Amino acid sequence: MLHVAIVGAGPAGFYTAEALAKRLGPEVAIDIVDRLPTPYGLIRAGVAPDHQSIKAVDRRYAAVLAGGVRFVGNVEIGDSGVSIAELTGLYDAVVLATGAPRDRPLGIPGEDLPGVIGSAAFVGWYNGHPDFADLDVPLGQAGACVIGNGNVAIDVARLLAKTPAELAASDVARHARVALAASTVSDIHIIGRRGPYQASFTTKEMGELGLLERAQPRVNPADLPDAAGDAALESGLRKVVGHLRSFAALPQSDKPVAIAFDFLSRPVAIERHSDALQLIVEATRLDGDIAVGTGVMRAIDCGLVVGCIGYRTAEIPGVPFDTARGRFVNTEGHIAPGLYVTGWARRGPSGTIGTNRPDGGEVAEEIATEITPGNRAGGPGLDALLAARGIRPVTFAGWQAIDAAEIAAATHPAPRDKHVTRAALLAAADAGCAGGTTPL
Ligand code: NAP
Repeated sequence: MLHVAIVGAGPAGFYTAEALAKRLGPEVAIDIVDRLPTPYGLIRAGVAPDHQSIKAVDRRYAAVLAGGVRFVGNVEIGDSGVSIAELTGLYDAVVLATGAPRDRPLGIPGEDLPGVIGSAAFVGWYNGHPDFADLDVPLGQAGACVIGNGNVAIDVARLLAKTPAELAASDVARHARVALAASTVSDIHIIGRRGPYQASFTTKEMGELGLLERAQPRVNPADLPDAAGDAALESGLRKVVGHLRSFAALPQSDKPVAIAFDFLSRPVAIERHSDALQLIVEATRLDGDIAVGTGVMRAIDCGLVVGCIGYRTAEIPGVPFDTARGRFVNTEGHIAPGLYVTGWARRGPSGTIGTNRPDGGEVAEEIATEITPGNRAGGPGLDALLAARGIRPVTFAGWQAIDAAEIAAATHPAPRDKHVTRAALLAAADAGCAGGTTPL
C-alpha cells in the first residue's frame, strides 16, 4: 500500500487525489490534510460568493472524499501541529497543494494604514474565512480604490457595488452581507498601472459589470488604444477590450454607484488625512508593454484601498522557499525525494480552477512511477500523532455535518449561512455527527 498525504484541500489537492486514486486504485491510501476545519480551499473562501455555478465544482471534490480519500481538517502542517519532517516520515509521498493564501505587498508608503487591505484578507472576509471574519472594513466613505487589473479586482469591485437584492442568492458571509448593505461606497476606482491591452480581466467578469442594478462602469475614452489594434489581440482580450469600449460609450447614467477604470495610473503612496485616505497615483505612459512614470501625480479620496495585485504561498519551515517568486523552490513539481508540489504553490497564482487539473494529473503520474511503498505508518500513524498532541482533526463526516448546519441556517434564496469561526465550525462538526472531529 502506498501512503500519500496531500497538504491543502483546495482544487490543486483534490485534482491530485482524484488522479492518484484513479491511477492506483486500492493500492493507494490518500489523506488530504488542511489547516481549516472545512475542505475546498479557494472554492469556499476565494471564488466570489455570487458565482455559485463555479462553486458547484465542490460536488466533484466531495465525490473524491466519498470514494475513500480521507479529509483530515483542522491540522496545520508547519510550526504548530505537525512538522513537514514528521509528515514525510509517515507517508511514502507528500504533495504540497497549499495554494497562495498571502497577499503580495504593494510596496508603497502607507500600505500599513488602517483601511488598506489586501485581497486575500478582503475576499476572505466576505467569504467567511475564519482568519478574516473580524476584519475591520471601512465602508463609510464614498470612495474606494481597488488596485490591480485582474479578475480579483473585478470581483472586489462588483461585491462593493452590488445591492443586497443582488447578493441575496449568494453565500456571502452574514457579517459582510450586513456591512455591505450599510455601505455608503459610491465611487469605486479600479486602478491599473498599465492600459486596457495589458489587463488580465476575462470576458464574463467584464460583461457582468455592465449588468449591475445600481452601478455603472466608466471608462475614459482617452485611455483606450486605437481600435485598429484590436484585431491583433488574442480573442479573450479582444472581447474584454470590446466591453471596455462599450462602457466608454455609455451615456451618462443616473445610477448612484460608479465603477471607474483608472488606467495608466501607478499607485505611489497612501496617505491618511483625519478619517479619510488618499491614494496617490502617478500617471504613466506605455513604452511597448512597460509602464513609464510621467511624474504627474493626482490624489484619489477614499476610505478603503484593496490591493488586488496577486498572492504568495505561505512558507512551511523546512521547505525551500523562493522568496522573490513567493512559492516553493521546485523543479517541475519536485521539491525533494518523496516531496512534491502542485497548483499555485508550484507555479504561482495564475490560471483558472481547471488549470490545476492537468497539474494534479502530472504529479499523480510522477508519484505512481517514482515511488514504491516503504511500509510507512500512513493515516493511522498520523491519527496516533494527532491524538498524542490533543489535536482534533475534522473528518469528512464532520464536514458533512458543518455543511448540513450551514445549509439549514440559510435564509432563502441564500444557499448557506456560513459558520465563520473555528469554534463554531468545530462545534457543528461535533454536534452533527458522532466522531465529526475524530479520525474515521
Ligand atoms: P492577476 O490576474 O495576476 O492580476 C494582478 C494585477 O495586479 C495585474 O493587473 C498587475 O498589473 C497588477 N499589479 C501587480 N503588482 C502591482 C503593483 N505593485 N501596483 C499596481 N498593480 C499591480 O491576479 P489576480 O487578479 O489576483 O488573479 C489571480 C488568478 O486568479 C488569475 O489567474 C485570475 O484570472 C484568477 N481568478 C479568476 C476568477 C474568475 O475566473 N472569475 C476570479 C478571480 C481570480 P501588471 O499586469 O501591470 O503586472
